[in-house]
Amino acid sequence: MNATDAYRLGREITRKADKILNLTKTGDVLVITTAGTAYYRNQTSEDVLEGILNQARGRVSYGKGNLLMLRKTRLDPLDFAFIVRKGNDLIVAYFKNASMTPLYVGTVSQNMTLTQYQALQKKLGSDTFPIASLANAWAIGLSPDILREAAFHGHVCLGTISGYAMIETLLKYYPATNEFGLPLEGVSYQVVGVPGGSDDDVFIYAMDATPGKRAYVGFNTTADTNIVGFIRWNSKTKTGTLIIMAYSQQELINKYKQETKATAVSELKFNAWAVKKLTTSPESLVKILYAFDNLTQDQVNYIMGYEPTKGNTTISAAGLDLNYILNQTNLVNATPANRTYITGNLTYGDLKNIGRLAAEKAVELFRAMGINLEKDDYHLFVLTSAGYVRINGQDTGAVWDGIFDVLGSRLSRKTLLPVHAPLWGQLKFDFCLINGTQKIIRSMYYNLTTGTFTVQSSANYIIQEVLPYDPPFDVLMGWLFHNHVCGGSSPGYLIADYIFQNYPRGENEKYIYVTTLDNCKDDILFMLLGVSAGQGTYSNQRLTTEETRLETEGGMNGMVGYIVVWDEKTNTGRVAIITWQGPRFAAGSNMYEEYIRLYKHDYSSPNLIALPTVSKAAERFINREELNILLSGGTGSMNALQYIFSIPANRTREDLIPVNNGGSQNGNQGGVPGIPGGSTGGSTGGLPSGSHGTAGHADYTPGAEHTASPADVNAASEVSEDSPMEAKRAYEVTNATSTSGGADSSWYVYGIVGVLVAAGLVAFGFVRGGAGK
Ligand SMILES: [Zn+2]
Ligand SMILES: [Zn+2]
Repeated sequence: MNATDAYRLGREITRKADKILNLTKTGDVLVITTAGTAYYRNQTSEDVLEGILNQARGRVSYGKGNLLMLRKTRLDPLDFAFIVRKGNDLIVAYFKNASMTPLYVGTVSQNMTLTQYQALQKKLGSDTFPIASLANAWAIGLSPDILREAAFHGHVCLGTISGYAMIETLLKYYPATNEFGLPLEGVSYQVVGVPGGSDDDVFIYAMDATPGKRAYVGFNTTADTNIVGFIRWNSKTKTGTLIIMAYSQQELINKYKQETKATAVSELKFNAWAVKKLTTSPESLVKILYAFDNLTQDQVNYIMGYEPTKGNTTISAAGLDLNYILNQTNLVNATPANRTYITGNLTYGDLKNIGRLAAEKAVELFRAMGINLEKDDYHLFVLTSAGYVRINGQDTGAVWDGIFDVLGSRLSRKTLLPVHAPLWGQLKFDFCLINGTQKIIRSMYYNLTTGTFTVQSSANYIIQEVLPYDPPFDVLMGWLFHNHVCGGSSPGYLIADYIFQNYPRGENEKYIYVTTLDNCKDDILFMLLGVSAGQGTYSNQRLTTEETRLETEGGMNGMVGYIVVWDEKTNTGRVAIITWQGPRFAAGSNMYEEYIRLYKHDYSSPNLIALPTVSKAAERFINREELNILLSGGTGSMNALQYIFSIPANRTREDLIPVNNGGSQNGNQGGVPGIPGGSTGGSTGGLPSGSHGTAGHADYTPGAEHTASPADVNAASEVSEDSPMEAKRAYEVTNATSTSGGADSSWYVYGIVGVLVAAGLVAFGFVRGGAGK
């Protein structure tokens, strides 16, 4: 491989970190970086990762779980955190924006003093909690697959841990039976989430319940963002089970204080406690509120939306509409199973050996065809579910390192491709040799009981279809997330391009994307835009084809979704409805080849008959209150798209700023006292904006600063106990408060007893009220 600038940067920065921290000596090292999503000199940055791996000389590898790719966007700066363990301490060297001079070298341990924490925060700004939480979770041995999920989500938090606890509880009592869904999009469960609770990202990630596969639907139908519904469909009986779970941050904190006798609650220490619970008794972290059997197809369609044939959605999704669900008279209590799972004790070496054996098996299979597989062959691709699936309850990422040892295949070389799968899935492999457009594939899966490989007659995956055309790294990551390539996913990259070009983010701004016409492309958008259901910056409010149709002079466009560029400082934003009209290619042309040329801005193909059109149907300025209405699905009589059109087009941002203060005061009634006010107050009242300024970073996480005014928050949790359920209708304006970021806030508190940002708890009394069963 040619040493690109990006590759050299990865090496140099690792060498520098090595000098400071002695990483190659200590061996116990973690690297967290935005490389892989952030661009370097207008290019994808996988070569940076390759440089890090080579310079670290085996101390860092994907399989060891000590290289974490923090998911951002191509617009974000290229940052690096190198962390080593020194006794009980954790030391970080943090490099910002590809600078070779570390911005901070010092402790990041959960045991740091307040002064140390403040020094860290002054330098790292909104990156403090992501780095600190990942580092400390790694240090206490959190499973690498959970760490990767957390890097996908943005940090380790209670929602991360509880999300996994919910999955374990689900698999114990309501285990997966069969897959269902449209062709290529089969899943064992559909997930109805409420964005803003970090658990949502866990389901999308660890259950492979992606929105693009129509397996995740969720918008703010209730104020409680820590609640979720799982639908399990029995294809034989044509009935389903609906399991509704939740976790209560407040209750868990009370339990934590009781058990540890801690008077102050620091989120990092609390996380450590919760991680221990996850390993010893996951059920103690969560509650099954309801489990109903007898769910009919009509009821599933009401909740999730319905698409009788691909591309034609005839019923919009109502999401987790508890009023509807609890009023269905046909539902009966489901009978739980009681599966027990044994967690295995395979070592890193054992797991790595499985990868080694799989690769050796492939070598043997190709040799039988007269082909010698050579190490480091860039035409050989390994597609595998390793790193997503577990065997005996254990992460299988180490398998990657075994494959690397034999074949030199690695994600940063685009030759080892981990394909998204649910954690209960099968460990499988496609070895694919590409010669021009010709592909030779050998496939196998790992047989857990015998410890052998079963060779399959057909391929497991279809992602190899795009490999001859050298797709950019970031779209490849999107496709791996989607778990397949298809016509429906291909537009995602072009829509993201349009958004980056036409709606760049300024300082203090973040993206929120809401899907209105849900299909495969949404998984690519989700990945590229760096949005997150868990952080409340992504919703899937699935509308019908009819509702999203926009007739224009140029023909028929689909209003696929809307992007909000939200300014945290002024509490205002710009919303634009995005429309899409597909390209036309000559009959017989290869759609993937043609699309990938478009991704590379190559419009010279003779097969290109008509360019795709990405456009905006409406663009408006909005305030917090209007954002909340949008994220809760509209006003009831108007859906979100209609609501956007109803906002005056001639409004300016300046018009909104005075209005906004009132709006955000109203927002307080929605159950997050202290958050909107706190964040407004904070920003005007001397929030340490300097730290963001020096960091040169566009992202701004309000949660990190809430600790400045936490005193009023305790009261919030008291209110929650007995809220009547009638008050919690879907579409309530006041419900949609989670977008303040408060629900996902990080909190780090010293010396204040029981202080918490307890977002979303108002609704909890209601849901728990019916939880007696
Ligand atoms: Zn979170
Ligand atoms: Zn698809």
